[in-house]
Amino acid sequence: MIQVKDLRKNYSGTETLHGLNFEINKGEIVGFLGPNGAGKTTTMRIITGYLPPSSGSVKIAGYDVVNESLNARKHIGYLPEHVPLYLDLTVNEYLEFFAKIMKISNKQIKDHLNEIKQKTGLSVVAHKQIGSLSRGYRQRVGIAQALIGQPEVLILDEPTVGLDPVQIIEIRDLIKALAKHQTVILSTHILPEVNMICDRVIIINKGDIVADSNVQELLSNNKIKNSYEFLIGSNPSEAEASIKSFRSVTSHSGVAQDKRSLIKVAARDDIRSELLKSLVLKNVDLVEFKTEKTDLESIFLKLVTSEKN
Ligand code: ATP
Repeated sequence: MIQVKDLRKNYSGTETLHGLNFEINKGEIVGFLGPNGAGKTTTMRIITGYLPPSSGSVKIAGYDVVNESLNARKHIGYLPEHVPLYLDLTVNEYLEFFAKIMKISNKQIKDHLNEIKQKTGLSVVAHKQIGSLSRGYRQRVGIAQALIGQPEVLILDEPTVGLDPVQIIEIRDLIKALAKHQTVILSTHILPEVNMICDRVIIINKGDIVADSNVQELLSNNKIKNSYEFLIGSNPSEAEASIKSFRSVTSHSGVAQDKRSLIKVAARDDIRSELLKSLVLKNVDLVEFKTEKTDLESIFLKLVTSEKN
């Protein structure tokens, strides 16, 4: 559905994108993640045909975004980072205006916009002036505009920036619902957003792709180590002896904590189940057990603070 090949962009002689390559298939929900200034907006603008690349190519549904721009754009709905809304217009007037620009026939306009307003939760405010709406509702108007013409691809640039926590949840739910029927690229620097919404994540840093993976695979492949913490109420020496007997254990340490003992363990493999069984068999009084979680945030930080920085 989207093919990006050796995409480069120079701004006044400085290369901002250093040859990006990726493909996005129909129905995928891809998080485009990166710190500020990584090149997310630049990439989104090139994909949507708002900015020409310096070199390389982007194809949407087989159409080149530069040479076959009109055809390519028919397949894309774009929510820019800052939506330039006409605040004096009502939601209905605004959406009708864009539906006409998009050459939706007079016969279809009403049904098409009613469906979009229903999907985006705008029916209740359809007669209100956009200027009187909350930021969350204005963002819905931007999303509704992107849905005009039933594009197969939705490109959303930082869709929840500047919204309050309730609005953020509402917009994320809306995106999740839309993603059931569309291919979505979501640009963001908010990690939980990717975890909640996307199947796949492309991480960009300083104009290069540093990871492109299924979110769950990225999490499991980047397990830095298997580390566990045990809070032991009795028999700490029995517990330590038992832990030490596992070949996979690479380090362990015990610290007395009141009448208890806190034991930290690092292992080459995931030996949680065997370890816990052996402690129970030795009658060790296990008060607490914790595993260190490898989350997207630590992987992201590892990737964007690598030696290139
Ligand atoms: P943010 O999360 O802050 O929006 P981003 O990942 O979207 O960042 P871009 O806005 O694409 O990043 O910017 C990438 C780099 O290109 C930045 O260093 C930025 O200063 C630079 N840049 C962006 N637009 C222009 C422009 N029109 N002229 C010159 N430099 C630009």
